[in-house]
Amino acid sequence: MDSPESIDDYYARIEAALGPERRLPVAIEEMPGWDIFPFEVDSLRIKPLAPLADTEPARRGEDAVDCWCDRPHDPDAAGLVWSNDRWKVSTDVDGSGLPIMLWLSPLTHCDLPTMPTDVAAEFGPLVATISAAIEDLPSVGRVQLAKYGDGGAHLHLFFMGRPLRMLQLRGSPMLDWEENLPRVPADVVARNARPVAEALTAVHGGHLGPVVRA
Ligand SMILES: [Zn+2]
Repeated sequence: MDSPESIDDYYARIEAALGPERRLPVAIEEMPGWDIFPFEVDSLRIKPLAPLADTEPARRGEDAVDCWCDRPHDPDAAGLVWSNDRWKVSTDVDGSGLPIMLWLSPLTHCDLPTMPTDVAAEFGPLVATISAAIEDLPSVGRVQLAKYGDGGAHLHLFFMGRPLRMLQLRGSPMLDWEENLPRVPADVVARNARPVAEALTAVHGGHLGPVVRA
């Protein structure tokens, strides 16, 4: 079998599919045509394809000495929902458009591909605890998880509560909806995050963060 494909070969195949102005046609038989896609297909136009970058840009905190984890952990830091000696769960205090949006990070500097074995061993149980607590919330139908890591180098896994019975928000287009929804007020963020923090404390020890102590 041949080696895995190069990015140049991958990119060339996309270029071969471009239309005028280096734009791809909207794939109306795929997600843009689904009921859950938030935008009307008639108004859509895909941006012209950008050239391949020369290199991947460095991310925030690529080097551990430049990362937030180089400073001592503060269990009272703003935005903290829960933490113990090894992990923390944070949220945006200004709220997202979803009932709950949290991110889990180890206090040890690593990303998913560089996760030490002992950190990885705790990762699974934490994901299960957080996921179960989010799906128990009365305004949540399902939890969605995302790991991007294109901005910050230090591992942060997102947990997003898909609103209950809002079936238009199912699946991967939920984030496109989220950007356009009104922000959830801070007191509601606190009320929704508190049961998650309590579940984490019960199973994994640690402390409630300032977001949920109010
Ligand atoms: Zn770090």
